[in-house]
Amino acid sequence: MLILASCNGGEEFKIPVYAWTGGPGNATNSEIKAQFQDLKEKGIDGLMYTSGWDIEAYKRVGKIAKDVGLEFHTWIPTLTQNYNPDMKPEWYAVNGIGESAYDKPAYSDHYHFVCPNRPEVQKYLEDMYVKVADISEVDGIHLDFIRFPDVILAKGLWKKYNLVMDREFPQFDYCYCDKCVSDFKAKTGIEIKSVANPSQVQEWKQFRYDLITNLVNKLSVTIHAKNKKISAAVFPGPNSIARVIVRQEWDKWTLDAVYPMLYNDFYLEGTKWIGDLCKEGVTSLNNSIPHFSGLFICPDPAGKASDPDPENHGLSHEELESAIKESMENGAAGICLFTPERMTKADWKVLKKAIHTSYAMR
Ligand SMILES: [Zn+2]
Repeated sequence: MLILASCNGGEEFKIPVYAWTGGPGNATNSEIKAQFQDLKEKGIDGLMYTSGWDIEAYKRVGKIAKDVGLEFHTWIPTLTQNYNPDMKPEWYAVNGIGESAYDKPAYSDHYHFVCPNRPEVQKYLEDMYVKVADISEVDGIHLDFIRFPDVILAKGLWKKYNLVMDREFPQFDYCYCDKCVSDFKAKTGIEIKSVANPSQVQEWKQFRYDLITNLVNKLSVTIHAKNKKISAAVFPGPNSIARVIVRQEWDKWTLDAVYPMLYNDFYLEGTKWIGDLCKEGVTSLNNSIPHFSGLFICPDPAGKASDPDPENHGLSHEELESAIKESMENGAAGICLFTPERMTKADWKVLKKAIHTSYAMR
């Protein structure tokens, strides 16, 4: 410590660390403060914190986060919206066989995706995010589910859903609502519903990449006008995965940072893959904004070997150091943990050592 302190003027080298978390549930202010102080001491610099659209919760929790010296970003899903009286059934996205995500969501009950092309949806989201950005303790808005439903699922999930997704299937392909279909016709002359295999129409793909890009960039203007930051949790890539499976062309988004979810187990990959995807992301962005490596921590290390569901896999403490090393050597600006609550004593020990290591860029 003495040597380090004398080497760089008392400031010990440290990799920036963020964490996805949420609450507050029934936690009291002093309980939240103790939790945040603990995270700060363990090396966390900022929170991506979710409490739905609960403005009062963000005010209360944000104040505590700022008091203990943490950055405070609100982590709020964008294009998945649960029912509330403001959400109209016709705002929801429609798949290639005419089913609405309002009452027939793909894959899972929380997949109530809305259509990014609807001005009413854009206005709703803009108004809601502005209310959050207006909270003085909020440093930034962190978008999630800023994408279409997975037209192809990550390979590790095929078994779980009993699917072989070697191509795009219409029931997972969005959005074929009246507005998207007619806007695309007006733009290109193509009647997409009469095309036998829409997955072969490049303009139709690009039209949907652009819908997401345009929404992000619109929100970005609004949030920046409030002098707040805007960032997003995105799929890995952008080109090899995010664009192909969820139609995110995130290298074209005007954000302050991206947090790709480099959840290797979902793709049946090891930690080297995390490094490869960092390299791809950083290169695509041309280093214009920081690229934080999102790491999926194993929720149940003891049960991992016997559990077939990759959503219960994730990094063990033996893999965590390699995941951080791969990230930093391939250009990541830091890491983001999903989630700090999953971290074991052994994980924190590994993290502490790794975040004070100066990895050389490859
Ligand atoms: Zn639509």
